[in-house]
Amino acid sequence: MAASILLQGGTLLLHGHDDHVESVKADLLIEGSIITRIESDIEPSSGTHIIDCRDKVISPGFIDTHHHVWQTLQRGRHANQLLLEYMATGNFTSSLHTPADIFWGEVGGCLECLDVGTTTVVDHAHCNYSPEHSKAALAATLSSGIRPVFCYCPTPRLDSWDPFKINMDFLPPWVMSTLEELVAHTSLLNSRIQLGFAFDGAWLPKEVIVNTFDKVKSLGIKVITTHYVHNASLSTNSLMALGTPVAFSDLGLQSHSSVGVDCHSNQSASIPSELRLLLQCSRGLNNEKFIAQDKIPKRVNKTIEEAFNLGTIAGARAIGRGTELGSLKVGKKADIVVWDAASPGMVCAAEEDAVAAVVLHSSPADLEMVIVDGVIRKEGGKLKSVDFSEGNEIWDGENGIWEWKEISKELTRRRVEMMKKVEKIDFQAATKGVIQGFYIDEEKIMESV
Ligand SMILES: [Zn+2]
Repeated sequence: MAASILLQGGTLLLHGHDDHVESVKADLLIEGSIITRIESDIEPSSGTHIIDCRDKVISPGFIDTHHHVWQTLQRGRHANQLLLEYMATGNFTSSLHTPADIFWGEVGGCLECLDVGTTTVVDHAHCNYSPEHSKAALAATLSSGIRPVFCYCPTPRLDSWDPFKINMDFLPPWVMSTLEELVAHTSLLNSRIQLGFAFDGAWLPKEVIVNTFDKVKSLGIKVITTHYVHNASLSTNSLMALGTPVAFSDLGLQSHSSVGVDCHSNQSASIPSELRLLLQCSRGLNNEKFIAQDKIPKRVNKTIEEAFNLGTIAGARAIGRGTELGSLKVGKKADIVVWDAASPGMVCAAEEDAVAAVVLHSSPADLEMVIVDGVIRKEGGKLKSVDFSEGNEIWDGENGIWEWKEISKELTRRRVEMMKKVEKIDFQAATKGVIQGFYIDEEKIMESV
């Protein structure tokens, strides 16, 4: 049960008119799961948990709008792999995961998000090998304490690795009946969870797609995600040769854009890191145009504030929850992160421009506290323990209260077991199978251009 928490004397990053962000010294009161007051010198009632926030910057928690959270056991395997290789070595290795592996991978992914200040994650959960796999994934997100938008995903499955054969029955009856079952559970369980739908089956016949979306809408699902090449993460897009994300492009889509990490198997899940990459890449591309014509740009093309907003208020709007999430405002959900403004990385920058300090100077080590739905999930720079029994009504494979240290040991043990399975697979042959299965024109695959 969330108690009252008073964040006292911190520098709050407050969104105002036109999403302009102001740094304001004030107190912030949380009652239950809601921000109830933002004022100077709030007098706490008895029992309020008071946190001294002098020398702290307080910002809304970050919102990651595209992430495959199950992939923790894959980490480090794709550092030099393009999409074609990753499809076999990454995406399809979901087939090697048991439901318990998916649970643990998902726990690892959610806790990394919390550790780096992400309070809401849109999980494009393409791990649906069986009803148990998706139930395990959803139970893990619930136990972790993050605010998940769990986008249940009909997932391409393999019939066999050798020969490499994709199962063409993309939507067997259990896929949609499992979604109905999850909807029934989540409406009862916890308002922190939102169910969405992830769909990458645009190649299916029109009537199948229409019927599927009619069903999804009839279940009250509002957030639907899919893949498009100019996707959410500059890190993953750059690695996989998928172009530059649309958020800061010249296409004029910024007001409808947000950012996500995509694959934490490839890089950190830190949204400020992604914002920094995106911002500086956009500036670099813009500057190149001037340099090519022997000209000098008069001003930067994108600002720190625009980058910060992509990871906060714009993310909230992207999932239709701009009135509830994405900024520090009375009446909104208490999803909040507290930075150490006196850290070696942030000192001086935080006093001059706190938004710049977060976007350009911070590291996850500067994050002292993370609050989701009014509950402290990271304190003193350390993740709090998680209670797996919270997810037992959905999937009861794991329970008990776990500290991060023990969770990391279990992840390491499971990774070793996973690698024993991975070593038996001929990924070169599998990649050829991917090329055939997805009708990729081999003539286009070049060493250089
Ligand atoms: Zn993706």
